Amino acid sequence: MTQASRNAPYTTNNAGIPVESDEHSLTVGPDGPILLQDHYLIEKMAQFNRERVPERVVHAKGSGAYGFFEVTNDVSQFTRADLFQPGRRTEMLARFSTVAGEQGSPDTWRDPRGFALKFYTEHGNYDLVGNNTPVFFVRDTIKFQDFIRSQKRSPVTGLRDHDMQWDFWTLSPESAHQVTWLMGDRGVPKTYRHMNGYGSHTYMWINGGGERFWVKYHFKTDQGVEFLTQADADRLAGEDGDAHRRDLYGSIASGHAPSWTLKVQIMPFEDAADYRFNPFDLTKVWPHGDYPLIDVGRMVLDRNPEDYFVHIEQAAFEPSNMVPGIGPSPDKMLLGRLFSYPDTHRHRIGPNYAQLPPNRPHSPVNSYAKDGAMRYEPSRTARPYAPNSYGGPAAEYEGRFGDPAGWRTAGELVREAYKLHREDDDWGQAGTMVRQVLDDAARDRLVDNVSGHLKDGVSRPVLERAFQYWRNVDKETGDRIARSVGEG
Ligand code: NDP
Repeated sequence: MTQASRNAPYTTNNAGIPVESDEHSLTVGPDGPILLQDHYLIEKMAQFNRERVPERVVHAKGSGAYGFFEVTNDVSQFTRADLFQPGRRTEMLARFSTVAGEQGSPDTWRDPRGFALKFYTEHGNYDLVGNNTPVFFVRDTIKFQDFIRSQKRSPVTGLRDHDMQWDFWTLSPESAHQVTWLMGDRGVPKTYRHMNGYGSHTYMWINGGGERFWVKYHFKTDQGVEFLTQADADRLAGEDGDAHRRDLYGSIASGHAPSWTLKVQIMPFEDAADYRFNPFDLTKVWPHGDYPLIDVGRMVLDRNPEDYFVHIEQAAFEPSNMVPGIGPSPDKMLLGRLFSYPDTHRHRIGPNYAQLPPNRPHSPVNSYAKDGAMRYEPSRTARPYAPNSYGGPAAEYEGRFGDPAGWRTAGELVREAYKLHREDDDWGQAGTMVRQVLDDAARDRLVDNVSGHLKDGVSRPVLERAFQYWRNVDKETGDRIARSVGEG
């Protein structure tokens, strides 16, 4: 059947010119050489060779969807941010991901999951780039690159290497809380729909009167938290490496839009100074008993992207995208990420990544940025400098958007962790999780998961350090792990 009889559109090249054939390249006689003048063939080959952008160094394998966020409770006393005002409904994009694996890696490897959100607000894009865990492995951004290298493939064997993982973790005791979480049930969610999301960092909220608060975000899945056992995860990794991508896409396509309820913990600004531990330490949660959860709204993902590469691979989330009413905190991991995300996007997809469909704000962009590779939005001003006397944009933040985020600070230049708070330790909250949050069956699975992991390629002296690490978290759990590995 010909194209014409199928009533399909005619094929063109990238310039919109009709092409002569989808089937045959231009040759000198049927068996003759291919001609350089077959510019359509050359365009096809050249385009194909350039189809990939570099994959993300971390969070390379991801899946996502569009949706909306709607406010269900009045939190305007804490923030003036447009998207959190009563009655507001904001369009958004979400991308979920694994951390250490590459683009083609199985969705069910044990790993934290990225939980990256972009809200297209009236005052620009708000990106909340969190994980499905409320804590993290390190508390200082200077250790992030080392941490990630220890989790990815060995430069020698090209294999992921449990010895490298435990070597780093046991030399970095601040990892204990996150490792306990990772080795527990939540280390492999059943699907992306069955996991919570957390902003993880502490952020600042500022209300209409200029009052400041510290805030932590919790997106609770309305589908319920469910997990895979290690055995099921291993099986699925072989049977369907894209199980979580398939599930998310299929659920939305069949009209079962997943949703999450957003709750926040709010800490009055002044509480931070003498709270029992450093509230900006990313290895710790704020216990619910100290700061209870407050309802904010609901996020619904109801629209699959029409093109995976355009909307998900090119999606560029950046924690530095904070809109009026929201700001950073002194969390050192967050402060490092404010630099590294936009930097990686400039490298990965080019300096004009903000103009691409998933990244384009739905509100006006009056920036003085200009030129650069692949720029296609014309500049909004003929005078590309500020100040100018020809009606170009002028920064008028405070008059329009209230007080910007900030805090008073003064001190010596140092390289040290906070040690000003009574409970600034590494093991306490991990121990609380093991003893008070997990039930007997979950503790058994934790012991099995850890000992299975340690039996797979971890050598001395890392192994001894791992037993001590777990005894520091919880003596009985550490003893059980050592016995299970056969060293107790
Ligand atoms: P709570 O008893 O109020 O909260 C315990 C929380 O633990 C639950 O709300 C749930 O969080 C989470 N949880 C339950 N089962 C698991 C699991 N298998 N793996 C990981 N998390 C689980 O106590 P606290 O707030 O005093 O916190 C006690 C400990 O709970 C903390 O040390 C921390 O390890 C853990 N935790 C605390 C969170 C917090 O923000 N306070 C959040 C998550 C964990 P959720 O409702 O978010 O699913």
